[in-house]
Amino acid sequence: MDRVGNVLALIILSLVIIQRSDAVQYKVVNNVTNVLYGDLIILGVGGVEFSKKTMKSATDFVLRTLRETKSEDLRKDVPRVIGLFFQDMDGSAATTLQDGIHMSVGYIARYLSSDVRKEFVGVILHEMTHVWQWFGDDRTPVGLTEGIADYVRLRAGYARIDWVKPGEGDRWDQGYDVTARFLDYCEGLKDGFVSEMNKRLKTFYKDEYFIEILGKDVHRLWREYKAKYNSTRNHRRPSNRP
Ligand SMILES: [Zn+2]
Repeated sequence: MDRVGNVLALIILSLVIIQRSDAVQYKVVNNVTNVLYGDLIILGVGGVEFSKKTMKSATDFVLRTLRETKSEDLRKDVPRVIGLFFQDMDGSAATTLQDGIHMSVGYIARYLSSDVRKEFVGVILHEMTHVWQWFGDDRTPVGLTEGIADYVRLRAGYARIDWVKPGEGDRWDQGYDVTARFLDYCEGLKDGFVSEMNKRLKTFYKDEYFIEILGKDVHRLWREYKAKYNSTRNHRRPSNRP
């Protein structure tokens, strides 16, 4: 293909990506029993329009980080309208279901006196990753799924202050911040690692993917990662993780 052809192909490719993620609409729903309280929480995180804007930016960031450049890379079962449902919820900050993200108002309320907006954006980035990522036909370890979601959050600059430091944690598939830091290390070994892993998860999961992408067994990678930071510190696991 000549240069003009290349540029044209790039433009068409970009349009395909833009069309797919722009075709998605976002809605914010107050499902809190005490409606007024729900409205106050929504105002507290920045309002309905800010919430929708955050969801849109989160989608763009997730797709960029996972390098989903072809429309066939994208999950087809993502709804045309992704909801953000504020609700009374026990146990976790948020959860992602088929219709979108369900956010605990109790969790958000705990951050109202500090940097609530930063935590809100961070949780949206994490949950929006669940909307778009692949699950290896449900064979992917939960720890890896959650690690990829927190990896996206980390790359966006929204890691929480109480997260583990690089090199901390007990297992590579411990999930959340521990796995996110490990994936970040793997990404440092090979640019595009997380994106490659996610693409493989479209159909299946096996530990050997680490060997196929990085040439090393995941347990060896974890040992080398720990050795790099020479860390024996244990980490207190906070409860109520999304
Ligand atoms: Zn999660």
